Amino acid sequence: MSNRNCSAAVLLLACLGLAGLTRPVAAQVKLLPPGDSSHLTRISDRVVMSQQAGSRMFALKTARGLLFIDTEPTPAATREAIALMEKELGGGPVIALVNTHEHYDHIAGDAAFEGAPIVATQAMVEGLRLAEPQKLKFLPQAEQVVAKARAERDSLKPESPEYRDADARIRNAEAMLAAVRPAVIAPTVSFSDRLTLDLGDRTVRLVAMGRRHSYGDMLIFVPEEHILFTAGAVDPRGYIPFIPPFTRPEDLQRNIAVLTEFADTSLELKRIITGHRPDLTVGDLVFARDYYDRLWQVVARERARGTTLEQAQQRLVLDSAFADLLDKGPAPEASNKTHVKNIETAWALVPVPAAPAVSAAPPRADKAAPTAVKAAPAAKPPVARPAQKAAPATAKPTVARPAQKAAPKQ
Ligand SMILES: [Zn+2]
Repeated sequence: MSNRNCSAAVLLLACLGLAGLTRPVAAQVKLLPPGDSSHLTRISDRVVMSQQAGSRMFALKTARGLLFIDTEPTPAATREAIALMEKELGGGPVIALVNTHEHYDHIAGDAAFEGAPIVATQAMVEGLRLAEPQKLKFLPQAEQVVAKARAERDSLKPESPEYRDADARIRNAEAMLAAVRPAVIAPTVSFSDRLTLDLGDRTVRLVAMGRRHSYGDMLIFVPEEHILFTAGAVDPRGYIPFIPPFTRPEDLQRNIAVLTEFADTSLELKRIITGHRPDLTVGDLVFARDYYDRLWQVVARERARGTTLEQAQQRLVLDSAFADLLDKGPAPEASNKTHVKNIETAWALVPVPAAPAVSAAPPRADKAAPTAVKAAPAAKPPVARPAQKAAPATAKPTVARPAQKAAPKQ
């Protein structure tokens, strides 16, 4: 996840779920037989969740019909989930599918919704377009991973629980690969800032997050249910949020503003539901917001002092500069690694101090400096002001041409 290719790599390698094949694994990576509804979980009277293979799909029942969020990892598994969720919630027409972000493990079943509106941020549409060539590049690598897993499975005792488990995981990985090999069906409705869906007795507010976990993350708020869906855009407190290198200053600014908006306790959030992990708390939102804000401020301060990147990475260790934010121990090794990388990313984003008028000093040797000069816009730090809101709801959705077909690439 340390380069621009992470979207493609996330699905094609990590999300295949084949690492450590011979170790005991959780059951959630198995695709279940048709008709098996054991993967459905009731979230509320109106919301049900389906989770067959790692990432989660949701359905919300409203007066106008059913709104879906994300998909199962294949179109077939998604069709099955739609039928089961319709039954569970008492039926109703499909209003639309909302894609939370462009990672394939959340959208590989989009083709099951062909003909219905598929809603995403414009940034996600762009992220999907950028990921496509990378995906094609990673496919052979992913196939090698599956081939290695097959060999590993075949070395196990047939009919042993380990063999069956490995076999189920491989079949799942094969199904996911088959689903994403053609171009994933493109969203048909997109928006840049926010989009509110009035569904009769329920309102759904979609808010673009700015680049964060992916190019096109969004948060989804259903005020009547007091539920916020965050997919991959917010990590639980204790996990330092990775700031990808494709982040721009305005993304950090927007991340902070959106997190501030939803950290407002007057919203009375009952559930903050993620795409893979246990529920979050408002404290997790506040932590992420404060981490971004602090990181920006301390990196800008160090840069203005003339500190080198390496010195800043040593000086700004989590235990000191961020100690008051961390009230429970993060996984120290991984968090520190992520944090050090984040300092490098932020280093390239904060404003570069103006050069002195006359200087005999040699040019700076920071490797991130050239990027910083290009990337840094106006010297405006993304400091969260109290009750700061993301930009108002003025954006009109963009409706794409209907029925954009999934075009097989080979
Ligand atoms: Zn993701």
